[in-house]
Amino acid sequence: MTGKPDCKPWCKDHQTEFGENDCQTSFMIYDDGREEEVPPAPGSMEAFIQDGMPLEVSRITLTAWQNEEHKEPFMDLEFFEAGDDPMQSAIMHVKLDDIRTLHSRLAYILKDLS
Ligand SMILES: [Zn+2]
Repeated sequence: MTGKPDCKPWCKDHQTEFGENDCQTSFMIYDDGREEEVPPAPGSMEAFIQDGMPLEVSRITLTAWQNEEHKEPFMDLEFFEAGDDPMQSAIMHVKLDDIRTLHSRLAYILKDLS
């Protein structure tokens, strides 16, 4: 799916369905490689600890889209469980400044941890 001439340089999947005219791209930014969720054995200490806890995420994607009316791209961080047909676990709507802040905080933390 190639972009149109007026696409953003980052557009990899231009959207025109339903009257849309959005540049869009999506990146897998983390994948721990698990192909399926392995739940802890019922009655085990792991099952007890996991009970009531948030789902464990296996993959994170960042999708960005923008049309000519938008000053900057809209973005979603999407968090998925492991599995061949994973359910979307959670979504976080972010802006460019949010991603920049996340990037700089992670860089700062990693510098301390390494
Ligand atoms: Zn485009």
